[in-house]
Amino acid sequence: MQAETKKIIQESLDALLENDLFLPDLTNRKQAFASLSAILSTPDKIHKSFLRVPLDDGSVVQIPSYRAQHNDAMGPYKGGIRFHESVNEEEVIKLAFLMTLKNALHKVPFGGGKGGIVINPREYSEKELNLISRKYVSYFVDVIGPDKDIPAPDMGSGEREMDWMMAEYKLVHPGTSYLGSFTGKSVVNGGSLGRREATGKGVYFTFRYLLHDYVKANKQLLTKSDNLFAKTTLELYNRPLKMAVQGFGNVGSVAALEAYHCHLINHKIIAVSDRNVTLYNENGLDIPALIEFTKTNRGDLPSTEEQLQSATIKAEIKERDCLVTLPVDVLLLAALENQIQKDNMKDVQARIIIEGANAPTAPEADQYLSEQGVVIIPDILANAGGVIVSYFEWLQGRETQFYDEAEVYRLLIDKMKETMDMILPQYYGDPFALRQNCFIHAVTRLSTVLYRQGKLY
Ligand code: NAD
Repeated sequence: MQAETKKIIQESLDALLENDLFLPDLTNRKQAFASLSAILSTPDKIHKSFLRVPLDDGSVVQIPSYRAQHNDAMGPYKGGIRFHESVNEEEVIKLAFLMTLKNALHKVPFGGGKGGIVINPREYSEKELNLISRKYVSYFVDVIGPDKDIPAPDMGSGEREMDWMMAEYKLVHPGTSYLGSFTGKSVVNGGSLGRREATGKGVYFTFRYLLHDYVKANKQLLTKSDNLFAKTTLELYNRPLKMAVQGFGNVGSVAALEAYHCHLINHKIIAVSDRNVTLYNENGLDIPALIEFTKTNRGDLPSTEEQLQSATIKAEIKERDCLVTLPVDVLLLAALENQIQKDNMKDVQARIIIEGANAPTAPEADQYLSEQGVVIIPDILANAGGVIVSYFEWLQGRETQFYDEAEVYRLLIDKMKETMDMILPQYYGDPFALRQNCFIHAVTRLSTVLYRQGKLY
């Protein structure tokens, strides 16, 4: 497993080892911690195969594909299937580990898993993608299922693929309960209302709660704290803020729309970017108009003057990668990994970074920016809305009783608020960055469960 993952585990275990309140009845702590470290740093299982798929032109491709199952102490493995040309074994293992921690942090009764299919989905026809999705299920059908491992969409896949995959699962397992085999399905096919928007809404909520609700209720406490992050939070509280959003897909566009409609914080989105372009407007961008445009342009933002004019959107076209270093107060990253790294970390001007994507801040940049007092709301905290509503979808599928949209959002926000209320008091009082705080909480919960299950000796 990658060095950075080992480091996360070691730091969390070191913090726990020093804490006498953690499992006081645990004898031989050193040995127990060694077994914990071994369990967390190794996935339970890795399944891999080549999907042999006939293409429209009659040729046959062999597509590498993976399913990593990291740990199921808290419940069935759970995690998306990424359709991307650069996905690989190491990446799915790391992402499966993060899913274990994310579920433990938010008390979602699932373990961690992740899948990958090494393709660029834009290069395949709908018929070919259908075959690829169904082949994936038929190859891995013995190791997935509603009580074993429940996949969901990830980068490059969506509800269409989940609908196809569930149909294949149903075909292979006739007569068994199948609605819980995949989440992120279309609503008509047993999906949950609100699932599509869940991650983006949750991402924005973590920011709003940290910078508005929590500060409002705890201003005195933060003022007394000499913690660097408390100072940054207070500096930005109740001030007009500029925000930039990287990535305008499922997560980025929904989070941007939430920000656009939220009047509790005085902010405007002055830049958004996607795989082609950055759009900039000092006075604030018209987010609803941009979303409308993407619906008719294969998900892409306008990238020419003609397109901007036809959609009556006022914006300056800039080079894609400039967004990260623009003069803004808040940066919401919702595209890819490693967008802030050694080369550009010193040029980042934002004082709050929200990680909608998984791992958009490389470890070195994370450390550097945290030392400068930048508040980084980490992926494991911010982007859990998807898996939380996936859990509600799984529950609804089991009960064949479906909630209305307002109920889904109420349950989602309750769950994220519960996690924030557990994390924030410690964050503003101790020397750890928010990411480390989240890891320590997640590892504590997971370790306690493993201990109670008799797996530490
Ligand atoms: P998506 O495919 O819907 O959107 C991705 C967006 O990023 C697109 O607008 C694309 O044009 C843009 N993009 C691609 N390369 C870029 C680049 N170099 N610079 C700027 N923009 C670029 O994906 P999504 O579902 O919105 O997921 C985004 C991220 O969030 C991924 O890292 C994903 O793993 C993570 N995530 C998603 C969910 C979810 O429920 N969708 C849940 C948790 C985490």
